[in-house]
Amino acid sequence: MSKKTDDIADLYKQYLMPTYAPAVALVSGTGSKVVDIDNMQYIDLTAGIATLACGHCHPEVIKAIEAQARNLVHSSNLYYNTNMVLLAQRLSKLSGGYRAFFANSGAEANENMVKIARLWGSTHGGRYEVITFNKGFHGRTLAMCAATAQEKIQKGFDPMPIGFAYADYNDLASVKAALSNKTVAIMLEPVQAEGGVIPATPEFIEGVAALCKEHDLLLLMDEVQTGMGRTGTFFAWEQLGVKPDMFTLAKALGGGLPLGACLARPDLSDLLHPGALGSTFGGNPVACAAALAVLDVIEKEGLLDHAKKMGALLQEGLEALMESYPQILEVRGRGLLIGMQVEGSAKEIVDSCRMGGVLCCTAGEHVVRFLPSLNITEKDLEEALEIISDSLDEVFG
Ligand SMILES: *Cc1c(COP(=O)(O)O)cnc(C)c1O
Repeated sequence: MSKKTDDIADLYKQYLMPTYAPAVALVSGTGSKVVDIDNMQYIDLTAGIATLACGHCHPEVIKAIEAQARNLVHSSNLYYNTNMVLLAQRLSKLSGGYRAFFANSGAEANENMVKIARLWGSTHGGRYEVITFNKGFHGRTLAMCAATAQEKIQKGFDPMPIGFAYADYNDLASVKAALSNKTVAIMLEPVQAEGGVIPATPEFIEGVAALCKEHDLLLLMDEVQTGMGRTGTFFAWEQLGVKPDMFTLAKALGGGLPLGACLARPDLSDLLHPGALGSTFGGNPVACAAALAVLDVIEKEGLLDHAKKMGALLQEGLEALMESYPQILEVRGRGLLIGMQVEGSAKEIVDSCRMGGVLCCTAGEHVVRFLPSLNITEKDLEEALEIISDSLDEVFG
């Protein structure tokens, strides 16, 4: 580490709670290229952990943020917010009629989704329990820690809020075993992301949807990471042939600004009334302006198709490396959400890639996760693959 990075690291240690372990200090970015405080360049295959669908500092997103910031930065939900209304309309068109509630983060969007499910359950047999999945991830608020069936997320924070039961992903029998007369909903990620990039099998999703029908349960999908085109369709559920009763978006929704949304079927939305849910900053005009620009860019630049193509290229590129490195056990994912399961430490590979000039991240101990911007160029991707290959050589070679 050089002087400038060292200095920031010292200040960080002194003034921040040690909840993260940052490695470098990024100061600027364009597209999929970023630069750190010591002027080192990287190809960014994390995209702010799936938040920057159109890459760093896309001119249209910046323009929208700047223009809105000049007019009105915040007005509160006491007053109409045009951008929020327009964004809800766009999301309704894209999803086929869901209504929106806006929040600031993925966890907050999920909290509200679970609250609406409980509201529905209160008049449907007094049911409140939501089945979630081992290795899932739904956020860090207390209730979402409880929804996140991972020991490392819950440990030390007991007692967990009640109202969640756990099942194994892609295992319908375990879902049946978790059912009780209190079950109101089943909540899942279409691809378990943080938990190791594990896509749901079509049979599993069909089975879950059938169970929901049979037992009068709501099907809730957490599309915080998979939504906004990440998997090659606007919502991952479009590829599954199953429509959720509610789903959430966040990460890429606000183009890098904090914005989350819970989308619900109109009849579920009808259960609410003014005051039922709320959020001071939820749907802030600047964040919604950024979101509208992100949607424009995705459409204008054909980023869904591009994400599919680049995803296939990345997947093939990583699979090709399996021949040289038997320590790569599997490459899997959907679109531009790809995981590489390795023998040994994923973090070691991530560190080595970073030193070579590629940013990627982990998804658990043994999975390296790649989630580039949807508009990453073929050239950047090929360059990144070469650096990844060199890094693997260093770690495994
Ligand atoms: C990141 C993530 C969350 C949490 O989002 P925050 O904005 O950090 O609260 C929830 N669910 C999934 C699937 C995520 O990837």
